Amino acid sequence: MAKICLCLTGSTIAQDLAALEQYRDKVDMVELRADYLEPGELFHVRAFPEKAGLPSILTVRRRSDGGQFDLGEGVRLVIFARGLAFADSDTRKNFSYIDIEYDFDIPSIQEAARTFGTRIIRSKHCMQGIPANIDSVWRNLSARPYEIPKLAVRATGLSDVDAMFRLFEGGDGKSERVVVGMGEYGFCTRVLAERLGSMLVYASASGEGIEPAAPGQLEPERLLSIYRAKAYKAEWDLYGILGGPAVIHSLSPEIHNAGFSALGLESLYLPFPADDVEPFISLARRIDIKAFSVTVPYKEKILPYLSRRSPEVDAIGACNTVVRHVSELIGYNTDAHGFSADLRAFLGMESLAGVKATIIGAGGGAKAAAYALSSLGAHVCIINRSMSKAKHLAEVYGFEWSGLTERASEMIERYNDLIVQATPLGLEGGQGGDPLEWYEFSGREALYEMIYAPPETPVMRRARAAGCRVTNGLGMLHAQATAQFSLFTGLDYPRSIHLA
Ligand code: NAP
Repeated sequence: MAKICLCLTGSTIAQDLAALEQYRDKVDMVELRADYLEPGELFHVRAFPEKAGLPSILTVRRRSDGGQFDLGEGVRLVIFARGLAFADSDTRKNFSYIDIEYDFDIPSIQEAARTFGTRIIRSKHCMQGIPANIDSVWRNLSARPYEIPKLAVRATGLSDVDAMFRLFEGGDGKSERVVVGMGEYGFCTRVLAERLGSMLVYASASGEGIEPAAPGQLEPERLLSIYRAKAYKAEWDLYGILGGPAVIHSLSPEIHNAGFSALGLESLYLPFPADDVEPFISLARRIDIKAFSVTVPYKEKILPYLSRRSPEVDAIGACNTVVRHVSELIGYNTDAHGFSADLRAFLGMESLAGVKATIIGAGGGAKAAAYALSSLGAHVCIINRSMSKAKHLAEVYGFEWSGLTERASEMIERYNDLIVQATPLGLEGGQGGDPLEWYEFSGREALYEMIYAPPETPVMRRARAAGCRVTNGLGMLHAQATAQFSLFTGLDYPRSIHLA
């Protein structure tokens, strides 16, 4: 099982020890990143393992390798020498490991490490993605006896991640190694460290003023509670969600993994931030992802890759669920079901016959809403920034439509029993804003906001203040996810889990 190693990036050793106390019972070892320490603290690194009381790694990472250290090789050597030199190491704890780069070759340090029982992690940081000659790089790195090779790649896309899994397919004959993909695209390599044969997975502390040593590092609590890091085994079935960079913040892993856990299934669901669909499909085949969710911006881009589509996918023109069956990819859409179920619960109505509704947006979410509203018998108007997309979507169902022009104000006045907000304006970490700033709520409208993070968007705040009934997209997320769970597993989502 990959050990969880907490990466400490405080500017003082006291700060690092305080951060460790927060996570002591959740991690197996710690890495002291001496390159983050103030110069005066560097004299005290030797005392760290004793104070930490956990197996410790000493690392002094140069800027060129993604670290902070720029005091020169001479000073770096002195830090390693001081960190290692313990004549009375029988009674006091030494560093268990030092992490030194492939081009650091100082025999006296390496000899001292061996003498004091400190293992050497020999690392190569590929900051521009995976190099073309990765096979020979890894061969050289892992050729040194007594050393643990480490490959850290800042993934420039999912094809780098795919190449990392290819490299370690079937093992490489080396029982100990450390492998990590950095950056947003490398996220899955952290959760799947065990699958890559990595002996450890780096985690970072969270809190004000604390920065992760490498982008994409997870907090130990998330690794343990959402991704079941202590239980996960390389043979488990894999599921995931394909999306843009923001998919790292998706709630879907929490929902699906809680379901797997409650049913005792040896399955894991994780986000795959992707630069495109193609490299994800290649990775999915390599690591045998059984089924996956699809979110922004790939719900339409996934269509050409599907071997078969459900009637909803054909009607809506977007797919949010893919199940692999041997080499076939079968596409479904559970967004329309999720929206319809939650909307009916929100309005307390089974049929929307006679209800006049506006949808703002014409993307994947809006298409699912249009399909559901049409099925429920509502009269609808589509308003969208790109007029052609509004027109195209409206014409499928015989709805009215408008661009963001003066006509939109006149239109919404006629279709305002229900307003469905289906643009990303107001989304957490996004561009913010209110897509309806030109519209004054009367108080009689019901507003269905598809966004669920943040729980209240600016347009929700304004509508609520005017006296409207308002809801966000959390209920839709849950309803579409539980339908997805059944497609993934053939089982009902456990009732014992209260999704709120
Ligand atoms: P999408 O396919 O990318 O479509 C986005 C829509 O928003 C497009 O119609 C786009 O207009 C419009 N838009 C984007 N930026 C805009 C701006 N600055 N001003 C005005 N309009 C803008 O995205 P989607 O999948 O439909 O998702 C839309 C939102 O719904 C997202 O926030 C997503 O998280 C949410 N959603 C939630 C759930 C759920 O389960 N709760 C499910 C699906 C979607 P153009 O056509 O002009 O580009």
